[in-house]
Amino acid sequence: EDSGEKHRISRDDVVVGRILGEGFFGEVHDGVYKSPTGERICVAIKTCKDFSAEVKEKFLSEAGLMKNLDHPHIVRLIGVIEVDPVWIVMELLEHGELGSYLLQEQYILTTATLTLYCLQICKALAYLEGLNMVHRDIAVRNVLVASPGCVKLGDFGLSRYVDEQEYYKASVSRLPIKWMAPESINFRRFTTASDVWMFGVCAWETFSMAQQPFFWLENGQVINQLESGVRLPKPQQCPPTVYSLLCRCWAYEPHARPSFSQLVCFLSESHRMELEQEGR
Ligand code: ATP
Repeated sequence: EDSGEKHRISRDDVVVGRILGEGFFGEVHDGVYKSPTGERICVAIKTCKDFSAEVKEKFLSEAGLMKNLDHPHIVRLIGVIEVDPVWIVMELLEHGELGSYLLQEQYILTTATLTLYCLQICKALAYLEGLNMVHRDIAVRNVLVASPGCVKLGDFGLSRYVDEQEYYKASVSRLPIKWMAPESINFRRFTTASDVWMFGVCAWETFSMAQQPFFWLENGQVINQLESGVRLPKPQQCPPTVYSLLCRCWAYEPHARPSFSQLVCFLSESHRMELEQEGR
């Protein structure tokens, strides 16, 4: 397969550095990759500790999906090493997960910057919407920070390629109930409209400086609350107009929710207004 060839790289061109974190399949390291043109690129290297063919295939399926994506706010795949030990090599996002970044920088981040992060995530999702692709796991833990003014959507693992049944079995405790649309909780239905719901929750996390949505509830109580009309409250830093937009993302009926392209239009305008108010 063509796109497969294009991303096959040699282990000799990769120097592995320190551990960045623990992924679902194994450790993630930083490192440097020497490209065919001799350029040295800082990378993140995902490893897989299980060598069984079945697990390796699932591990590599995330890379298989990312091969076809090209967007300024989606983490870029550099290449894969398909012989044991299998590695996925991606561009390095120096500042790590958005969730931890928000906690660290909470006293200096402005409303305009928080709106910008939401806008950038939304642009990435509008791009996926155009490709008829569903992400299913939109949360600040899956957004990485490239620089103080740029975030990217990462982590196309798990949720997409593992079939529904297995996703459920493999990760009952990992299922992100508090981020999920009612139809996803009730019927395991995942569509662009359920991604819009999740985006609303991810934007709520961003404006709340990475508080956990519904931290005051047990997973099992969430669906009852949603069905009786309860929604996440307005975070202090969230502009009222943006909050009413988030509430539209949380319409019970999937077709009543806005599309990502509509959300991009609205958030661009909000970001512009916030910048003006901050006098920049
Ligand atoms: P999970 O499903 O639990 O999120 P995963 O297999 O998807 O696990 P990641 O969360 O993507 O793994 O990676 C684990 C950690 O490695 C992350 O918390 C993050 O800190 C770091 N990491 C992953 N990718 C990158 C990257 N491209 N740049 C910088 N850090 C990264």
